[in-house]
Amino acid sequence: VENRDHALDVARHVRDAGARMLRGGAFKPRTSPYDFQGLGVRGLEYLAEAKRATGLPVVSEVMSPEQIEQAEPFVDVFQIGARNMFNYELLKEVGRTRRPVLLKRGFSATIQEFLSAAEYILLEGNLQVILCERGIRTFETHTRNTLDLSAVAALKALTPLPVIVDPSHGTGRAELIRPLSRAAIACGADGLLIEVHESPCEALSDGDQAITSAALREIVSDVHKIHLALGGPLSPALAQTGEPVSVS
Ligand code: PEP
Ligand code: MN
Repeated sequence: VENRDHALDVARHVRDAGARMLRGGAFKPRTSPYDFQGLGVRGLEYLAEAKRATGLPVVSEVMSPEQIEQAEPFVDVFQIGARNMFNYELLKEVGRTRRPVLLKRGFSATIQEFLSAAEYILLEGNLQVILCERGIRTFETHTRNTLDLSAVAALKALTPLPVIVDPSHGTGRAELIRPLSRAAIACGADGLLIEVHESPCEALSDGDQAITSAALREIVSDVHKIHLALGGPLSPALAQTGEPVSVS
C-alpha cells in the first residue's frame, strides 16, 4: 500500500481482472531498513476503504502481537510472512484470533517445519490456516528464490489445509509469473498470490516481480482453463472476468 489512491486503484484493477482477495502490505518486513517500510495503520485504513469500494476481503501481514491488535479491525486474513514462520510466539498469538491465517513458508524451512509452524496455529484452536509456498533459498541466483512446486503436491497429500503459491516471491521475475502460475495450478495449488502494480518500475516494493492487472487477467484466464481441463468445478470468479469457459 503506497498511498490511498494507489490502494483504491489497484483494488479496482485486480477485482476487474478476476482476483478474489486483496493482499496489501501495511507493516512491511523489508530486508533493508532504508527501504519503504509501509504506512502502518494508515495503510490498513486504506485497505479497508478499498475493501468497501470493491467488496474484496483484505489480507495483510502482521509481524508482532501489537500489530495483530492494530490490524484486527481492518483485515479479514492475517498474513505471517516467510521471515516469521519460525516465530512461534507470533504463531500462537494469531492462533488465538478467529481470523484465517495465510502462513508463508520460511525460505529455509523444510516441509515438515512448515507443517509444524501451521500446527502451532491450529493447536490454539484456529483451524483456518492457508499454507503458501513462496520459494526457498538455493544456490540458484537467476531467480530470487527457487519455487518448490514439489512442496505443493506433497502438502496436498499430507494435509487437508488449502495450499496457495506465490510465484512473485518464488521467482522474483515478472516474466516468470505466468508460466509458474500455470504450473502451480496444474500441480494442485488452491490459489495464487500475485503482486500487481500498474507501473512496476515505480513500485515502492518488489517492482521487479510485479505484473500489471492486464497480465493478471491473462493468468486468471489460464488458471480457469487448467482448472476446468483437470475436471475442477467452474469457479464463480470466472463470471467476474467475463472470460469464455471453453477449454477447447
Ligand atoms: C510479501 O508477501 O510481500 C512478503 C514479504 O513475502 P515473504 O514473507 O514470502 O518474503
Ligand atoms: Mn512483496
